[in-house]
Amino acid sequence: RTQSAKSISKTRPRPDTLYATSSYQRRERIEKRDSSETPVPPRLSVGDYVKLRQLDNSNGLIEEILPRQSELTRKDTASTARKSIQQTMLANLDQVVIVFATAEPEPHFGLLDRYLTICEAAELKALICLNKVDLPHGVSVEEAAQLYTSLGYTVIWSSTQTNEGIETLRLLLKDHTSLFTGPSGVGKSSLVNALEPGMAIRTGLVSSATGKGRHTTTGSQLYPLSTGGWLADSAGIRALVAWDIPAEELAACFTEFRPYLDECEYSDCAHIDEEGCAIIQAVTDGVISERRYKSYVRMYTEEER
Ligand code: GDP
Ligand code: ZN
Repeated sequence: RTQSAKSISKTRPRPDTLYATSSYQRRERIEKRDSSETPVPPRLSVGDYVKLRQLDNSNGLIEEILPRQSELTRKDTASTARKSIQQTMLANLDQVVIVFATAEPEPHFGLLDRYLTICEAAELKALICLNKVDLPHGVSVEEAAQLYTSLGYTVIWSSTQTNEGIETLRLLLKDHTSLFTGPSGVGKSSLVNALEPGMAIRTGLVSSATGKGRHTTTGSQLYPLSTGGWLADSAGIRALVAWDIPAEELAACFTEFRPYLDECEYSDCAHIDEEGCAIIQAVTDGVISERRYKSYVRMYTEEER
């Protein structure tokens, strides 16, 4: 893949980390692939749906890999080939459950905004789970929950102590391919175990809770939920955290900014300090939350570094 496109040249995928691709990036890759002399057939990945021709009772032939809804990709720059190889680690993930604790540890909503933008950029549905609701929490948590609900995100209050929200979560996971993510200590493995006893060990969530993480050289794995649907293992967690969003695509990853993007007077407005910026005006008018805007500025400045 060449680095010619503006948006591509700004991404800085780190070697040997996973990242998610938006359908825009995938389209571009497919177009590039089609225009090259020897088209590269897509490699089969965990999560792929295929067209299978049954040969006999125990054998089948994969005839076609069906188009993917989403991809978590790994760029293998360590390979001896001059061209870096894009390898899809997990296909067709359709939602991410972002878990934060209402207390112990205190929720860091700036970090939640980062997770949300990554999901938006990867076109993955994001669910927000506020766990440990059995513990006393500040009013700021309620306010934040209201804000995210008003932005259209589903917020689930849960507790593995009282089982509040567990049934709701189970219904939301049913028939989907989901990934649990969030800071360590918020109760991800406890939640997964409450949903499906014994599952946390298999999905590698337990080792990630120790902070050591598990060294994954193979792709992700999917584990079937007894209610139907799949849970992806922790390989994808690194994927989402490691993903960089190109600076000029960042604003669109804040859902409430979208209606103002066209209005912006300058086509290349960064919405940082430009005069006449529709987004800054919406913040001044109190239509866009100041805290969300600050998250944007923080992420944008990091990208530009
Ligand atoms: P992870 O690192 O996100 O996987 O978090 P864990 O599942 O390992 O949980 C971290 C700590 O929080 C453990 O001591 C759990 O017992 C505790 N914990 C998990 N869920 C809850 C909850 O709903 N309420 C309370 N009070 N503690 C919880
Ligand atoms: Zn602007």
